[in-house]
Amino acid sequence: AKFVYDFTEGNRDLKDLLGGKGANLAEMTNLGLPVPPGFTITTEACKVYLESGTEPAALRAEVSQHLDALEQKMGKKLGQADDPLLVSVRSGAKFSMPGMMDTVLNIGLSDASVSGLAAQAGDERFAWDSYRRLIQMFGKTVLGVDGELFEEALEEAKRAKGVRVDVELDAADLQNLVAHFKDVVAKETGRDFPQDPREQMDLAIRAVFDSWNTDRAKLYRRQERIPGDLGTAVNVCSMVFGNLGPDSGTGVAFTRDPASGQQGVYGDYLQNAQGEDVVAGIRNTVPLADLENIDKASYDQLMQIMETLETHYKDLCDIEFTIERGKLWMLQTRVGKRTAGAAFRIATQLVDQGLIDEAEALQRVNGAQLAQLMFPRFDLGAKSEMIGRGIAASPGAAVGKAVFDSYTAVKWSRSGEKVILIRRETNPDDLNGMIAAEGILTSRGGKTSHAAVVARGMGKTCVCGAEELEVDTKSRRMTTQDGTVIEEGDVVSIDGSTGKVYAGEVPVVPSPVVEYFEGRMHAGADDADELVKAVHRIMAYADRVRRLRVRANADNAEDAARARRFGAQGIGLCRTEHMFLGERREMVERLILADTDADKAALEELLPLQKADFIELFESMDGLPVTVRLLDPPLHEFLPDITDLSVRVALAEARHEKHENDLRLLQAVHKLHEQNPMLGLRGVRLGLVIPGLFAMQVRAIAEAAAERKNAKGDPRAEIMIPLVGTVQELEIVREEAEQVIAEVEKTHGVELKLTLGTMIELPRAALTAGQIAESADFFSFGTNDLTQTVWGFSRDDVEASFFTAYLEKGIFGVSPFETIDKDGVGSLVRNAAAAGRATRPDLKLGVCGEHGGDPESVHFFHEVGLDYVSCSPFRIPVARLEAGRAAA
Ligand code: ADP
Ligand code: MG
Ligand code: MG
Repeated sequence: AKFVYDFTEGNRDLKDLLGGKGANLAEMTNLGLPVPPGFTITTEACKVYLESGTEPAALRAEVSQHLDALEQKMGKKLGQADDPLLVSVRSGAKFSMPGMMDTVLNIGLSDASVSGLAAQAGDERFAWDSYRRLIQMFGKTVLGVDGELFEEALEEAKRAKGVRVDVELDAADLQNLVAHFKDVVAKETGRDFPQDPREQMDLAIRAVFDSWNTDRAKLYRRQERIPGDLGTAVNVCSMVFGNLGPDSGTGVAFTRDPASGQQGVYGDYLQNAQGEDVVAGIRNTVPLADLENIDKASYDQLMQIMETLETHYKDLCDIEFTIERGKLWMLQTRVGKRTAGAAFRIATQLVDQGLIDEAEALQRVNGAQLAQLMFPRFDLGAKSEMIGRGIAASPGAAVGKAVFDSYTAVKWSRSGEKVILIRRETNPDDLNGMIAAEGILTSRGGKTSHAAVVARGMGKTCVCGAEELEVDTKSRRMTTQDGTVIEEGDVVSIDGSTGKVYAGEVPVVPSPVVEYFEGRMHAGADDADELVKAVHRIMAYADRVRRLRVRANADNAEDAARARRFGAQGIGLCRTEHMFLGERREMVERLILADTDADKAALEELLPLQKADFIELFESMDGLPVTVRLLDPPLHEFLPDITDLSVRVALAEARHEKHENDLRLLQAVHKLHEQNPMLGLRGVRLGLVIPGLFAMQVRAIAEAAAERKNAKGDPRAEIMIPLVGTVQELEIVREEAEQVIAEVEKTHGVELKLTLGTMIELPRAALTAGQIAESADFFSFGTNDLTQTVWGFSRDDVEASFFTAYLEKGIFGVSPFETIDKDGVGSLVRNAAAAGRATRPDLKLGVCGEHGGDPESVHFFHEVGLDYVSCSPFRIPVARLEAGRAAA
């Protein structure tokens, strides 16, 4: 194998082999752009090194050969004393990865060549500055010396001289600093800073290879499901110098605004500096536009190059460049990151420019970005006092009174207060408080901390790891860095999309994108928001190409109406349990308690109420399918709490009051008590053991449909049986249901065309789907319960207890309740769909778990051939978009 590629040999399609940075350096070289010559060592070489512990035998010779060629081209040798060639050694994997090694600049400098560099450049100071940078970077990243030690020495040198910034240090100061740095290296590593240029280079290359396996890099890969054996490439690039005086400098730029997508000049420039100074914020940069006044020729050339790159990559690019004494050099480019809003705007702009087509535009945005655009936000125009910043862990804008413990959070929220729960970090005991709070703020922990994971699972706003905020839960206060104190009860505002924390109430404005979906803002209007126009167009593309239909999980007419505005093509899951709550609870109690005659009465009382609910629902979804699920949850959920009831009974007894009813209730509660209610008497099992229950529900559906029909409506009800494990269960329910339906059709004189299907949410149902399909008109995969039962996880328990640990260990990249576990749960879905269709080719297939609105899962459901996904009304646009992306 060939292990080394000159920049002239590669291209952007070779990211697997050359890494992102190397592939794009090659691409720019071949576009004729001014890239300093160099070569890339392949990921294959890295793989061999990682597997065997040594560099492949051929590597040294190949590197020598490319180095020779480079030296020829540059007319000088690496580290040559009188005129040294210097190089940077830069890591560059296929995916950029936090925790991987940084770049080392100025390799080749040594005690011997530093004066040669000075003589060549005619600048003593520059040479010593470059040398101290080399020792600092090399010491830290290759030799593993604590970087602080160098920082301190540098600070000390500035202090001693009484200056503020590094450019004020002169050659002699820097020469002293070099001596100091070398001492640090010797003391910390027990060896001298290597003087042999080739040894410097080889050590740096090896350090880049090794950095593939740092703990942080490994963890990141496990979480992001990046294979652990890809390896990283290494780029060796001849140095160009931005630190050669005021006609030199370095900068970063975007081909258009990564925040808005607008075309223009965006970037930062720093005179007399080397690469990493810009990011490190050592000195203040100037806006890129100022470069026009500093060096017009380079500026014009840069603008030209940016245009070339945009047309070539057909996307926003970000770039790194350096100007050495008036000559512009390109050091890096890649397709740039952008905000969610910019992604939509850029995609449509590029379509208008004729650079990409609509299908490609769909690939340039995603559902997560759309979801982000739908959260309400803080009004940025309003006055606000930012007091800190943490990690944007779960989006949204939350305002409330500061509370520092869960008990208070619950208590205050019960009395109608909005609260923000502030903790150092959260643990499972905080769960109630987290549920009660508008938002959660922690001063410790990252994106996989307990707070972050649980908040995301609940869709609750969360900022975590705001380290500059000192949280003191004992005295119930938080202190900001500048000493402002937030006491319990003070209002704070937290922005889960940016991580910003504010004192006081920041006004919240609804998202214009939601206003648009709600129909309160029109994309066609001349003054319509640019973002809304872009979203409107992208949604139209998605709707045009998608095959999956999108339905809503909605239990009432109001949700159904909203879902319809958001583009729902029916209801995939109407839960009937809410129809048993509130004032109807009493009837349910009677139903549960009663002997045969009495239950009939209770059922008969419930019937008209249910029917009225269904009529409303069918009306709001007229002409579209509505899947109604018969009663699913365990009955004890409708009965009073066992402790409350026991107390009531005991009190009544003590006072010799009448308590017959409560006593019977209590007995019933005891009787119905289950160790594992989620695996107990629920779903179809209820229908089979409680006489008349399902029949009543079917009758309510059928009569509602009949009335809608007679009122010239177009009801399309589908009756769904939950928790079926075997076809026999379904057969019994079906027989009963068909009788009821036939009766209703006869009495109302209509033909209803009701269909009857089942949820597939137990492993057994999935495994026997072929049989079950004999008695089902449709399947709806209940992937929440299916995930619980396939993994043996109780969702309510495990998310708060050990999921954090699982995420931290990289066992999951994301909770299987958030994104479908394709290999396990997903494979059951795939096989059950195929088996069901083998029995009944026209079997309708859908999914109604939370996964129905999750981007990655939607792609999976598309791929396994389902007909529709169903999700909460708010997720519908996301599902539409992702269904379009999956099909495009
Ligand atoms: P990162 O991936 O962290 O951006 P880079 O390899 O791009 O690392 O390098 C870090 C900094 O050093 C960047 O600002 C880059 O432009 C600069 N740099 C890298 N190689 C050279 C070089 N050969 N000459 C001048 N500057 C360089
Ligand atoms: Mg870079
Ligand atoms: Mg279920």
